[in-house]
Amino acid sequence: MTAALVDNFGREVTYVRISVTDRCDFRCVYCMSEDMTFLPKSEILSLEEIEVIARNLVACGVSKIRLTGGEPLVRPGVVGLAERLRQLPGLKELCMTTNGGRLEEFAGPLKAAGVDRLNISLDSLDPVKFRELTRIGKLERVLAGIDAAQAAGFEHTKLNAVVMKGRNAEEVVPLVRFALDKGLDISFIEEMPLGVITEHDRAEAFCSSEEIRDELSTVFDLEPIDDDTGGPSRYWRVPGSDNRIGFISPHSHNFCGDCNRVRLTTEGRLLLCLGNEHSMDLREVIRSRPGDDLAVQKALHAAMQLKPERHYFSHDTEPQILRFMNATGG
Ligand code: SAM
Ligand code: SF4
Repeated sequence: MTAALVDNFGREVTYVRISVTDRCDFRCVYCMSEDMTFLPKSEILSLEEIEVIARNLVACGVSKIRLTGGEPLVRPGVVGLAERLRQLPGLKELCMTTNGGRLEEFAGPLKAAGVDRLNISLDSLDPVKFRELTRIGKLERVLAGIDAAQAAGFEHTKLNAVVMKGRNAEEVVPLVRFALDKGLDISFIEEMPLGVITEHDRAEAFCSSEEIRDELSTVFDLEPIDDDTGGPSRYWRVPGSDNRIGFISPHSHNFCGDCNRVRLTTEGRLLLCLGNEHSMDLREVIRSRPGDDLAVQKALHAAMQLKPERHYFSHDTEPQILRFMNATGG
């Protein structure tokens, strides 16, 4: 292994989230506008280019990769990519975040490719609301996808729900019941101001993790678990259950001090922080110096100098970040 990736604040980067496509078969209201334009093919990394960057990241000490998007399962060849990444020496965990709509077809192949864990997004159990939130998604496909993941043998699968007032905030109790019944973990996410959307006012819809916990506490006994996974989630549990209920609170809880992650965007920018624009153009490096692993590793180390100390998300100001989540490895 070459030298570890350590930033100016002494944080070691061991986790990378890779957006394998900016495209998606859903149009979630908080993530995309209705009329998205997607990147032309020449601008997005090929699977081989993703592999080169991932190989060098792992050579520099990255031990966990998450494939995400857009919807990773709409990228042709993603299962083969997963299979090759899983074999990188030094990689301890390969995960995927998916909307679940294609898991009936893909859960078995992903398991066979060596993917270790899945996160599946699920914001509503009401088919009409689910359709409104995703604009084009079908709830029954996602529920079948969750069953397929469990049948394929995936364990510790986690559901992710973005909670918004006036849209799905009253569903947090049914979502937890569903997760506990199925033996799944669940994390509730505060909506982040990424990209300009028009369908709701993010400030008005903002629902804090504390408000969600208060609502859940009217029905469930919640005990905090000291389960530091190095990520932004803080976890609670219902006594007697093994499943975790997590809260990702970018507004109300700043988790930047322990940040161990970077993101690789669809077009090959290494993004040093979700809430800032600091980035390194790795596509330029690999296209101008094909086959030069050392150049990639030098660029990775140089990028560490750009990692900002923290983000400054706020739910009552205009979005400071104009890019959408789908291209950034959310
Ligand atoms: N398509 C996959 C999915 O939905 O799980 C993977 C990509 S999606 C961008 C990854 C996660 O980001 C999802 O759980 C989604 O709910 C979340 N997300 C998207 N936009 C968000 C926003 N503005 N604020 C908070 N979470 C967001
Ligand atoms: Fe697609 Fe995921 Fe964004 Fe929804 S959150 S539009 S499923 S990328």
